[in-house]
Amino acid sequence: MLIDLHTHSNASDGTDSPAALIDKAIERGINVLALTDHDTVAGWNEAISALSAHPRGSQLKLVLGSEISCQDKDGTSIHMLGLLFDESHQPLISELEKTRENRLTRMERIVARLNEAGIDITLEEVYAQKRGDATLGRPHLADALVARGHVGSRDEAFSTFLHNGSKFYINHYSPSPEEAIKLIKSAGGVAVIAHPLASRSGRTVNPEIFADLIAAGLDGIEIDHRDHQELERSALLRIALENDLVITGSSDYHGTGKLNQLAEFTTSPEQWERLESKARERRVISV
Ligand code: AMP
Ligand code: ZN
Ligand code: FE
Ligand code: FE
Repeated sequence: MLIDLHTHSNASDGTDSPAALIDKAIERGINVLALTDHDTVAGWNEAISALSAHPRGSQLKLVLGSEISCQDKDGTSIHMLGLLFDESHQPLISELEKTRENRLTRMERIVARLNEAGIDITLEEVYAQKRGDATLGRPHLADALVARGHVGSRDEAFSTFLHNGSKFYINHYSPSPEEAIKLIKSAGGVAVIAHPLASRSGRTVNPEIFADLIAAGLDGIEIDHRDHQELERSALLRIALENDLVITGSSDYHGTGKLNQLAEFTTSPEQWERLESKARERRVISV
């Protein structure tokens, strides 16, 4: 059983269409795949159609979700995976819209800062790098910088101009992780904190953060992820065991946008069953 609970398509900053992602997941032999684009559900319908149309579609169970951008009290960026929620739950959908809207003005401001520093790039060039309805993100700006020849790759764009500590970095609106968990839960879904120790390497676990998230209804922790060191995994495992949380592993696949390969880390069938049973309804798509 191959279970990959965190992947991106070009409905956000991945490079594969949802349909291409479904094809590749089936080709790779994946049995359970979650589509978790940043702050959107825009890829869901295409993924469902692709699964229905695929001759071997019955091999794959599709878990629809989103990776919700959050911000902690101290300004730390936190990503919350929401899976199996009802996409007609307006409070959650409105919150995602608010974040996506704010990403547009944030991008204008980042582009203005780059221009002030003499780096020639336009907002139009950034938009040209994304699918019309996709969530706008720094990776699209990175692709525009590559297209202009300012840098050689997304990775180089991040290590030079776009990383969180850069003078060009600007935040966008996002809910607190507690708010995000409450919205996911009220929409009937499950909440798994994504790569919690990867945002700042060397950052020690703050158990108080987890206590608040658990009180808000956190269901699981993504532990096996390429951005986690061995010590970080063991610290997270301890927290998960102490609090009876589900533990997951996943690829965080972005197509050619990142090195991450489909199913490079996976979730065990036992943990997946536990997680799925915490959703209000059976919302896994199978054809
Ligand atoms: P944003 O959501 O606009 O703040 O951009 C953050 C996204 O950029 C993350 O979700 C990652 O997918 C992507 N990202 C971060 N660092 C890199 C990198 N070095 N190479 C490619 N993509 C990256
Ligand atoms: Zn991303
Ligand atoms: Fe993330
Ligand atoms: Fe991700």
